[in-house]
Amino acid sequence: MNKIEKKTYSITTYGCDMNKSDSERLASALESLGYSLVKKNKVPDLLVFNSCSVRQSAVDRIYGQMGKFTSFKKKNPDFRAAVTGCILPKDRKKLLKRFDFIFNIKDLDKLALILKEPKKYYKLSKEEIASFRVAARKQDFEERSDECSSFRVAARKQDFEERSDECSSFRVAARKQDFEERSDECSYFKIRPKYHNKFSCLVPISFGCNRFCTYCAVPYTRGLEINRPSKDILNEVKELISEGPKEIILLGQTVSSWQDPKDKNYVFVDLLKDLEKLPGKFWIRFNSPYVLDFNDKLIDFLAEAQKINNYLNLPIQSGNNQILKKMKREYSAGQYLKVLSSLKDRVPDFSFSTDIIVGFCGETEKQFQDSFNVFKKISPSMAYIAKYSTRPGTVAAKIFKDSVPLKIKKQRHAELTRLLRQTSKSNLQKEVGRTLEVLVNDYLPNKKECLAKTRNFKAIRFKGNKKLLGKFVKVKIVKTREFELEGKLFKN
Ligand code: SAH
Ligand code: SF4
Repeated sequence: MNKIEKKTYSITTYGCDMNKSDSERLASALESLGYSLVKKNKVPDLLVFNSCSVRQSAVDRIYGQMGKFTSFKKKNPDFRAAVTGCILPKDRKKLLKRFDFIFNIKDLDKLALILKEPKKYYKLSKEEIASFRVAARKQDFEERSDECSSFRVAARKQDFEERSDECSSFRVAARKQDFEERSDECSYFKIRPKYHNKFSCLVPISFGCNRFCTYCAVPYTRGLEINRPSKDILNEVKELISEGPKEIILLGQTVSSWQDPKDKNYVFVDLLKDLEKLPGKFWIRFNSPYVLDFNDKLIDFLAEAQKINNYLNLPIQSGNNQILKKMKREYSAGQYLKVLSSLKDRVPDFSFSTDIIVGFCGETEKQFQDSFNVFKKISPSMAYIAKYSTRPGTVAAKIFKDSVPLKIKKQRHAELTRLLRQTSKSNLQKEVGRTLEVLVNDYLPNKKECLAKTRNFKAIRFKGNKKLLGKFVKVKIVKTREFELEGKLFKN
């Protein structure tokens, strides 16, 4: 990349670990172009909002920030504001009216050009698109069309026959976008990120998603799943752990469906096994797996593993089978429970969190009660409870009605949150009195407290000092607090 004049930047990230990881690559790409992080309370030359648009609330937060731009421009005439991340086409159009430019996070290798001439970039990008199409290998087309027909079969199974034209046209659009951007995806992975936390490092292993859950924007904003080669993943992890003990977080929208793009027989569990074999003190976590990927081989390995965390975020989304079907989640509540109970039985000290949506199109009180009861039964340590919001362009937006009033969504959200307080507390209570190994990942100087995580991802705080940062230490658990534990440093 060519250097350009010295300028300052700032990145505001709204979203999940994947968005945070994107920001780490963006920061590194900007710094390689001569940009430096803006000093506190100064207006940067470039402010980038890197946001997810999985929920309307994230998009609303960007709109909420736009009011400040006029005063920023007064303070710094060079000020420019940009948006990137998982932005849906409809939001892109609206945002372009107030932002200087929008770019695709996968286009980081073209950042110099984008920053210099954002408008020209869009034109050039179209020419490039044409050449990508020519270059798109025959094999890719074949593979992708197989996937596409399997989506159609799945969709048919789910009573979408009469809508199949509509559904397939969305998929074709996503596929087209995927081809168009395909040649750049590998370069995204090749950018070495500016890791935000030295002790807890995000390592994306795949990009995009093939599942097309009916409510979800991800396949449209990030395209179809692209897997990163195992060699690159192993090299990045080796490099990270050679710098000292830490936690590695493997990321992917359905991380467990990863397979090596060069060897389809080398699948997620093989990657975990090879990571586990690497020498050194480290933990590995992965986010978010898909329940149907948990076969015996994976569960057997997780039961034995020492370096892989005994914690999972295992999204359920609903506890009602009709809603799950309407969401195109492809498993039943019973299947979810079976996998979970197998993990609970086999993996020592297993702990988990889940994602669940309330108020999905047409969700009745009885269907919500099914979610409530299943939630109670599974008793997660933590949960990410979302009120359904329509994402333009998704299958749900096209064929279902967002019929549950916001008031009811809020009530259901509050009911589940109350239940979560209980399930979290009872999970934390089990740890009181034990002495556990934890990894210290933050320090609060004013309170002289260390913040750490257990191997099964329970948050803990205890009195300590800054020198413990990034260390694995033993802590005796003394009591529970809201959603976390309190402990004492164990000295032997
Ligand atoms: N790949 C993960 C989820 C990624 S999106 C999985 O398969 O579960 C992160 C979370 O956002 C989802 O788990 C879901 O609970 C929530 N979410 C996605 N789309 C949503 C929508 N339209 N409205 C509300 N919540 C949504
Ligand atoms: Fe979205 Fe479903 Fe893919 Fe998760 S699996 S990212 S919810 S489409």
